[in-house]
Formats: sequence, structure tokens, C-alpha cells
Amino acid sequence: MLKLKVPLAPYTYAKIGGPAQRLMVVHSVSELKAAVKLAQTKGWPLTVLGSASNVIIADAGLTGLVIIDRAQAVSQPQPGLVRVASGTLMSQLIHFTIQHGLAGLAEFLGIPGTVGGALYNNSHHLNHLIGDLVTQVTIIDERGRVRRLPRSACQFAYDASIFQKQPWIILSATFNLSPAEPQSLQTLARAALQRRRQTQPLNFPSSGCMFKNPEKTAKQRLETQKLPPFAGFLIDQCGLKGVTSGGAQVSPLHANFIVNLNHASAQDVVRLSNRVRRQVHDRFGVWLEREIFFLGHHPQLDSTPKESLNYG
Ligand SMILES: Cc1cc2nc3c(=O)[nH]c(=O)nc-3n(C[C@H](O)[C@H](O)[C@H](O)COP(=O)(O)OP(=O)(O)OC[C@H]3O[C@@H](n4cnc5c(N)ncnc54)[C@H](O)[C@@H]3O)c2cc1C
Repeated sequence: MLKLKVPLAPYTYAKIGGPAQRLMVVHSVSELKAAVKLAQTKGWPLTVLGSASNVIIADAGLTGLVIIDRAQAVSQPQPGLVRVASGTLMSQLIHFTIQHGLAGLAEFLGIPGTVGGALYNNSHHLNHLIGDLVTQVTIIDERGRVRRLPRSACQFAYDASIFQKQPWIILSATFNLSPAEPQSLQTLARAALQRRRQTQPLNFPSSGCMFKNPEKTAKQRLETQKLPPFAGFLIDQCGLKGVTSGGAQVSPLHANFIVNLNHASAQDVVRLSNRVRRQVHDRFGVWLEREIFFLGHHPQLDSTPKESLNYG
């Protein structure tokens, strides 16, 4: 059902953001396809959200149609091959793979979000990238055509995929997983969960890590100076833990998290992330690149050309 002027903040992990001009919640891949085609026919700008755990939505909200993807389905059509709909929660997929004795995804337990969101960002846990486990992704393109992409066409890299460059909507994916003992997978999953509980500020709303870890030239430069090339470390070294802007705060527990401490606006998060970038640059000469997707109009967001300098 199409709804108008629906507040989006309650749908998001950060509890931030204005209304969607139009909103549809879909519960199957066929509903998702129909909603995408509706937007294409009407010429509406389109945003598909999974669990909205990796986004900051503008205070002014989003124009066009916002689709909340709850298309959930998981199956194992052949031994080792798992087919999953884009709106399936990662936790649901992971529990399925553990029960069926399939290795590779257990370590991702505790990362919020859907399969669609995970593939868009190529979700990572330490050095593991979710894209490495994918054999095929099915999308609907800007002309309404359903296409199957092999992994090689997905351009998966650290926090990157082709889905960030193309206006395609992910419908489903197939993972290729090797057999393992469910018990050992359970142990891996529990350890990953425990690590998250100890290191992440899970008692406050947030959208996860704000910045990517520096790569390429910036990473090399930091390593030459014997500095760990991690965004959280650099932010911490600048003494920014606990610093606030309005209701947003650099988490005192994990410096790469900006948490919604007290009714933060998107503008508060933008200002704080700008300040963090500037101070890290002044101290270390590195422009951190944002990992979180800022959707809609954020007038004060630092210009992006700077961001690519250290990652290109
Ligand atoms: C406490 C916390 C811890 C986190 N830890 C990690 C971590 O360890 N590793 C990590 O990688 N991430 C982490 N994240 C970030 C986030 O959970 C992941 O990136 C997650 O995969 C996002 O999924 P989502 O469904 O919430 O995506 P959303 O936030 O809903 O969307 C993210 C982007 O993907 C696009 N998108 C979503 N679905 C589709 C689709 N079907 N087709 C096309 N585009 C789509 C959206 O338009 C948006 O641009 C963390 C977040 C939180 C809050």
C-alpha cells in the first residue's frame, strides 16, 4: 500500500531523518519488482531501504518513492548453494546457514541489516567481505529488466560494489558456501557477537562505523609512520571521543561510531562528521571517507571530492 508523508526516522537504526514523500513496504520479491516498476513508470526518484542501518536520512526527508524491502526467503536449491531474497535479514540467513552446516557467514552475525544492504555495501567483518561468498546477484535495472549478474560483474571491493554506482535494485542473491560442523559455526557466531557487544556502543542508536579505514596511499603513509591505519584509532588520537554536536556524539566506546545520544538531527551528525574529518586531516593529513550513506539533501555535508583523495 502506498502511503504519503511517512516519517522515516522510526524505520532507521539511528532514529534520524525526515519523512518519505511516498512509502511502500514490500514483503516479497514480486512486490518489490512491482513497486520499482511503479516508480519507473511514474518517473519518481526511488530509494530502497533494507533495515536502514547504514544510512543517515536528511532532516528534510526523501522525495519520490521509498521502498522498505521486507522480501524474505531463504532456500538451498543445491548442496552448498543458498538463494536468498534481498529483504531477508542477515541474521535469518546466517542462522539458516549454521543450521544447514554451511561455512562463511557465521562471523557476520550481529551486523544489522538485510542481504540487499549488505551486498550494496559489501559488508565486512574484519578481513571477511560478504561479496567473496556470492556467486550471483539478481537485479532489476533502470529499464525494468531483471538481470542476473555473476560475482565478477558486481565489482566487490572493500566497502564498495557496482550497486553504489548503478541505479539498480537488488532482488536476490545466491551464495556458494562450503560444508562445516554446525557446532563450530555456532562457536564462531557467538564469538563474533561477543566481540561486537564488547567493542560497539549498542545501547545507543547509530548507523555503525561512520568512516572507512584509509586505503592505498593514506594507509601506506600511516603504516610508514608505524600508525595503525584505522579510522577509529585516528579519531581517538585526536581526542574526539565523547565530543558532541547537538544530540550527536562521537562514542566514548568506539571513536568511529557517531551515536544518537539525545534526539540528534541529521544536521548534528553532518556537523560532527565534518569536524572529525577536518581534525583527522589536520593531525594526520588523511581525509577520511564516509562509510555511511547520507541520503537526501544534506546542505552542510563536506564536499566529496576531498574524500576520494586518499582512497583512489
Ligand atoms: C551497530 C551497528 C554495527 C554495524 N557493524 C557493521 C560491520 O561490522 N560491518 C559492516 O559492513 N557494516 C556494519 N554496519 C552497517 C550496516 O549494518 C551494514 O552495512 C548493513 O549491511 C546495511 O544493511 P541495511 O539493510 O540496513 O541497509 P540500508 O541501511 O537500508 O541501506 C544501505 C544502502 O543500501 C541500499 N540498499 C538497500 N537495499 C537495497 C536493495 N535491495 N537494492 C539496492 N540498494 C539497496 C540503500 O539504498 C542504501 O544506500 C553496522 C551498523 C550498525 C548500526
